[in-house]
Amino acid sequence: MEESFPSSMISDTDKLALTVLFEKRLNLVPVFDDELGYKYPEAEALFEMPHRKILEKLNSLSKMGYLNKNLCATILKCPKCNDYKLRLRLQCPYCCSFRLAKGVSMKHYPCGYVGFEEEFLEQNRYVCPKCHTPLEKLGIDHMKVGTWYRCVDCGKTFGEPKELIYCSVCDKGFEREELVLEPIYSFAINEENVQEVLLDIDLSAIKKVFSDRWVVEMPAKVVGESEVPHLFTAALTSKGPVGKRVLMDVDYATTHVTTDAVMRFFAKVADVKPDMAILVGIPKFDEGAKKLAETYRIKVLEAKRFVHVLDRLDKCLNEISREDVMGDE
Ligand SMILES: [Zn+2]
Ligand SMILES: [Zn+2]
Ligand SMILES: [Zn+2]
Repeated sequence: MEESFPSSMISDTDKLALTVLFEKRLNLVPVFDDELGYKYPEAEALFEMPHRKILEKLNSLSKMGYLNKNLCATILKCPKCNDYKLRLRLQCPYCCSFRLAKGVSMKHYPCGYVGFEEEFLEQNRYVCPKCHTPLEKLGIDHMKVGTWYRCVDCGKTFGEPKELIYCSVCDKGFEREELVLEPIYSFAINEENVQEVLLDIDLSAIKKVFSDRWVVEMPAKVVGESEVPHLFTAALTSKGPVGKRVLMDVDYATTHVTTDAVMRFFAKVADVKPDMAILVGIPKFDEGAKKLAETYRIKVLEAKRFVHVLDRLDKCLNEISREDVMGDE
């Protein structure tokens, strides 16, 4: 690496990952996970790192100022073992039994009995199971009191059971107040600070280099046979009499652009049917992607920097624009 500034502290892989993040305007949002508490699947793929290291990486890039860190949720942790595998357990507030039943409850005013609705049901009518009086009118002699619990062991009914949070790792229950509240963050690119490390994939070069012979639309919305509009990085139409159409996408990855990108591109191309379809992969394609592209008659160009494909792009375009001229003769 040639830089001797602070940006040299950042590796090429990280630069590429940041560039992809910047181009795709991704916000790295944590996803809750039973095993890990939460994880960053997009970031793991982008930085090609295991989940244990990814948070450290995101935090360090945020300290360097390339990522903005935003609090997006909090998650509860066991105060003893720091694990996230916690389960809420409900307990009888009188005898501490965990054996509870839950149901919609009713209260009979004259005798004060509170019980589950089904206990009052006797054939087709409601009768108080305690004083055996038939119920008359809802709101007058009885009311529904919402969801209640009853302890199977001591028989008491109550509206709010005691809440215990159980850690299956420690095999221990905790009060909610005892738990550790861990903040979790999302990470988004800091568009200003990241400029200094962005890899050069300045697409405006297409316009500069080819506008004399081609009508360049960037980005281009092209309607296919299905009448669905598809978005391409660029659409170039030759200024010859026939007007040959070339559609192009640029895809980025930290290491390899994969078959997924080729398939996505092919789905659009198959609908639009241009004279030539070019997929640019930065920094390169994997072997499977190249093979697939060949099958689909998609031209692939790859380079670490976009400017480096301009020569080969020029060759491809010349090939097709020659056809345009010849078509006229
Ligand atoms: Zn009880
Ligand atoms: Zn009663
Ligand atoms: Zn624990």
